[in-house]
Amino acid sequence: MYNPDDFIMLSALQHYAFCPRQCALIHVEQVWLENRLTAEGRIMHEHVHEEGDESRGNVRIERGSSLRSLRLGLIGKADVVEYHRQADGTWQAYPVEHKRGKPKADHSDKIQLCAQALCLEEMLNADIPAGALFYGKTRRRLDVVFDEALRLETQEAARLTHELIESGQTPRPVYAKRCESCSLMAECMPKTIQKKRSVESYLKRMLDET
Ligand code: SF4
Repeated sequence: MYNPDDFIMLSALQHYAFCPRQCALIHVEQVWLENRLTAEGRIMHEHVHEEGDESRGNVRIERGSSLRSLRLGLIGKADVVEYHRQADGTWQAYPVEHKRGKPKADHSDKIQLCAQALCLEEMLNADIPAGALFYGKTRRRLDVVFDEALRLETQEAARLTHELIESGQTPRPVYAKRCESCSLMAECMPKTIQKKRSVESYLKRMLDET
């Protein structure tokens, strides 16, 4: 169980799963560069939260609900939690996270959504088998099943993200395809730093040999 003073943001898991260095730049060094993409994402989330709660037939929709997990040490907000009325009169929670772009090749969005479900399960003392990611670019929902593999991946991401943030260390950059869509590319400078490192190790090798 975590102390509330040690809670980390749910979004940090998504940042960690995308790139641990990005996570450290945001959550350790407090670097955040607003660009067109992040501004669009922020405005979209604000709009979702402002819409308020409503009911549509057998579905009750709650927006901007606060979430937390003592077990995983997480805190944050859900864009949308739908409650679907079941045949026996009970309500099944179903989290829906809104994303600006399109589905990603990595699991970072699924991990963030699954972390929301794990928070809800702990808060509601209920099982939440599935949720959805809504992507603004495709205007489609992607259903996500919270199977055992995704739950384990999410719990491990929470543990590693805590470790990273508590260490206060920012990992060195490793340039990869994901860097091209990273909002912190200019701040991180992965190619420049990597090149500098290879020059440094070349000089060290030369000195060691002489
Ligand atoms: S530019 Fe690349 S290495 Fe740097 S934070 Fe972004 S994804 Fe990570």
